[in-house]
Amino acid sequence: MPAVDLHTHSRFSDGELTPSQLVQAAHDAGVEWLALTDHDSVDGLAEAAQAATHLGLRLINGIELSSQWTKPRATKPISIHVVGLNLIDLAPMHAVLIDQQQIRADRARAICQRLEKYIKRDAWPDVLALADGRPEGVTRAHVAQWLVDQGIVARHQQAFDRFLGEGKGAYVPLQWMNLQAAIEVIQACGGQAVLAHPTRYGLSATNVRHLLAEFAALGGQAIELPPRHEPIGTRGMIDRLADQHGFLLSCASDFHGSKMPWLKLGQVPVLGLGQRGVWEVF
Ligand code: AMP
Ligand code: MN
Ligand code: MN
Ligand code: MN
Repeated sequence: MPAVDLHTHSRFSDGELTPSQLVQAAHDAGVEWLALTDHDSVDGLAEAAQAATHLGLRLINGIELSSQWTKPRATKPISIHVVGLNLIDLAPMHAVLIDQQQIRADRARAICQRLEKYIKRDAWPDVLALADGRPEGVTRAHVAQWLVDQGIVARHQQAFDRFLGEGKGAYVPLQWMNLQAAIEVIQACGGQAVLAHPTRYGLSATNVRHLLAEFAALGGQAIELPPRHEPIGTRGMIDRLADQHGFLLSCASDFHGSKMPWLKLGQVPVLGLGQRGVWEVF
């Protein structure tokens, strides 16, 4: 098995490093196959590819698409992340990203407007600056960072608990593409559709089963293994469901930088006996 890390972020979304810095850091950490998977953006891939060529590291063209999915018997959708790996032709992706990036930019502004009602300060100019002036690159993680920087909350997580999480005061209802559309566009690019972090959506075990069954029915090819710091029972559940649906597995850190120090570049879960890595089909 090559040393892989198939889900990472750069400054083109909520990562801390530029694509070149990320590739260098991955190389330093011993990663041989790296996927750059920014939220709803492929704009960092060209720079990453150039840096990877210099270092002899294999760069996998990736993305982390925001999508929405509704639990059985629920009324409101939740946000589900689908990682696309080994995108060959980026044209179909560029076409859907026009809408998706507009949604992200408009939502970011709406989140900041809602926040201003609570905190009586102008948030948008600073939040935009944290995303290097790219409105389509703003995530809730940037807003959380700003709330920490302002001393309004003590920690990143508190920003979600008080303002940004689902149903909180600055939460904006979802408008992302649906799960099926995310899978379809990744496959139209010649890539593999991978369900990101299946145990990080706050779903019950029953709803994780529903989600994975639907992902399989829609043609999704792979799922990410839970990180090693998650409980052993969580890994057992994912192993059983992967086996049941015949999913390939992806091994990834979801590295963002020093603000999320528990996610380390190159520190990924390892395949279990009989499991096949998604990279086997690249
Ligand atoms: P967005 O795509 O704009 O909704 O932002 C999602 C990003 O915010 C995720 O990729 C994480 O980096 C971060 N995030 C989302 N939910 C939480 C949470 N509950 N606690 C901490 N960070 C979170
Ligand atoms: Mn993120
Ligand atoms: Mn994610
Ligand atoms: Mn991610």
